[in-house]
Amino acid sequence: MSEVKLRQAIDTLKKSGVRITPQRHAVLEYLLNSMTHPTADDIYKALEGKFPNMSVATVYNNLRVLKDIGLVRELTYGDASSRFDCNTSDHYHIICNQCGKIVDFHYPSLEEVESLAEQVTGFDVSHHRLEVYGTCNACKEQQAANEQ
Ligand SMILES: [Zn+2]
Ligand SMILES: [Zn+2]
Repeated sequence: MSEVKLRQAIDTLKKSGVRITPQRHAVLEYLLNSMTHPTADDIYKALEGKFPNMSVATVYNNLRVLKDIGLVRELTYGDASSRFDCNTSDHYHIICNQCGKIVDFHYPSLEEVESLAEQVTGFDVSHHRLEVYGTCNACKEQQAANEQ
């Protein structure tokens, strides 16, 4: 992880007047280090050793604060629990059908789709989401091993 990213994020927190508690700092640092788009529960499990008094609700509250100031994006998937992404630049996701892992990939933003949708439907378009599904390398290796 780049220390620079963490420092920038801390600066954003300071500028928005949000108090930087040790837990909030830890949640942010964990997210910046994580490439896997963790759930609140994943973050809780990773940090509970360090903060025995912290609850899942605290993690959620911290994530909400970070989301409100634009440092974190929440990805919702129907009734499954939300995943959190601290890469707030435009990017797309590929999701493993077997293990649920989410990986970032970059592709020029499909802005024509947004403007076409706007023209066709008259909606004011806010954003779009594109997800590609498949089987990740780890799961493919697992499958190959099981077949032998
Ligand atoms: Zn997988
Ligand atoms: Zn992402």
